[in-house]
Amino acid sequence: MTVVTRFAPSPTGFLHIGGARTALFNWLYAKHHGGRYLLRIEDTDRQRSTTEAIDAIKDGLSWLGLMSDEDVVFQSQNAGRHMEVAHRLVEEGKAYYCYCSQEELDEMRQTARAEGRPMRYNGMWRDRSPDEAPEGVDPVVRVKMPTEGETTIVDLVQGSVTIQNQQLDDFILLRADGSPTYMLSVVVDDHDMGITHVIRGDDHLTNAFRQYHLYKACGWETPKFAHIPLIHGPDGAKLSKRHGALGAEAYRDLGYLPEALNNYLLRLGWAHGDDEIISQEQAIEWFDLDAVGKSPARFDFAKLENLNGHYIQEADNERLVSLIEPLMPVAVDDTGRARLLAGMDGLKTRAKLITHLAENSAFYLVPPQFPLINPKAAKLLKEGSSALLKELADHLEGHGDWTEEALEQAMREFGEARDLGFGKVAQPVRAALTGSNMSPGLFEVMEVLGRDECLSRMRAVPEN
Ligand code: GLU
Repeated sequence: MTVVTRFAPSPTGFLHIGGARTALFNWLYAKHHGGRYLLRIEDTDRQRSTTEAIDAIKDGLSWLGLMSDEDVVFQSQNAGRHMEVAHRLVEEGKAYYCYCSQEELDEMRQTARAEGRPMRYNGMWRDRSPDEAPEGVDPVVRVKMPTEGETTIVDLVQGSVTIQNQQLDDFILLRADGSPTYMLSVVVDDHDMGITHVIRGDDHLTNAFRQYHLYKACGWETPKFAHIPLIHGPDGAKLSKRHGALGAEAYRDLGYLPEALNNYLLRLGWAHGDDEIISQEQAIEWFDLDAVGKSPARFDFAKLENLNGHYIQEADNERLVSLIEPLMPVAVDDTGRARLLAGMDGLKTRAKLITHLAENSAFYLVPPQFPLINPKAAKLLKEGSSALLKELADHLEGHGDWTEEALEQAMREFGEARDLGFGKVAQPVRAALTGSNMSPGLFEVMEVLGRDECLSRMRAVPEN
């Protein structure tokens, strides 16, 4: 059997972080088993499904590398087929027209409330002949659920889960206007798309029982279900915006790399021993549903940031330069790009976010403005620093090689000749060149900036 999975978001908002993880698990499961992963946009709620949301979801998925192996399926386009299935079930006596009025439904709701149980339709039209239908009422179509016994689903994450069939009422397949409901559409589409494994959030577990019986009524094989626990915030409460319930593209804007987010989402609710850093190849090799935990995972920004720092260090320098380019305060010309590229090894070791990497790289393009805004750097430029830097600039002007090694030697000699410790020379130079007290190695910075730029920056420091 070829494994076929799907991610089926409702496009009523962005691709949130829980959705991204569901997509990832479906993608990995399919890849691990040499199968296919499909994307179905559940846009049946025409009012709430917007093109912006559809684009945002596709954008988020393609950023994460989780696009469908085949053409994207739009659920709304299958409405005719969904209706056809419902009508067939009516013909076969497995579903029926229900002419129940609003008042009757309200009564059922009140009774349920009084008895302290959830509202269930009482089946009043299940065995009634449509000849008794009141005039002028458009009926809904309901499917017959078993009224006794129990149903067990062997969920690949939750294990064996059983409910009493009394809890399942005859739910609606077609609304009074003839339109199919979510429950019907999902089952028909999953069947028609040949889905073998339904992997989704455990908020859908109760739906699975209804869907299970709908598959049976249709005479179709039920897919395997895997309901993964939701993601909670670090405090254990349901994930909110404050915790990071953001769109995937928001993570890109915050400065995360897609491979870091994928690695983080993978570890959120799934484990392979104590491994934290897991490449995509390893994830495909190792991922299976038996190692998905049953309890909600807690979202932790600090962990995500650490992973991101790791992936920034691993990332190709050209890629990093192109990621920071649009974040730079000025347009990046050829000289600027060459400096960023040459300095990237030193820059990327410290950065945990692309946004920080951009901030920390800006000095390669824009000379510091005086007075310095960074107070720690400003402190490094004491009385006399300006004169010292001018003197050093003159000393370095005629200096032979402009390489890290030669510069280090020249600066040490310069300091020793004046009885100044190395720091006393190096610190003001750092502040003059980078405007900061923290930067990549000073000689590396000097070599990358080049002689002319270094001398001009040193000479530009005003008297204190
Ligand atoms: N469209 C549903 C949702 O976004 C998912 C349905 C499913 O995975 O079966 O919650």
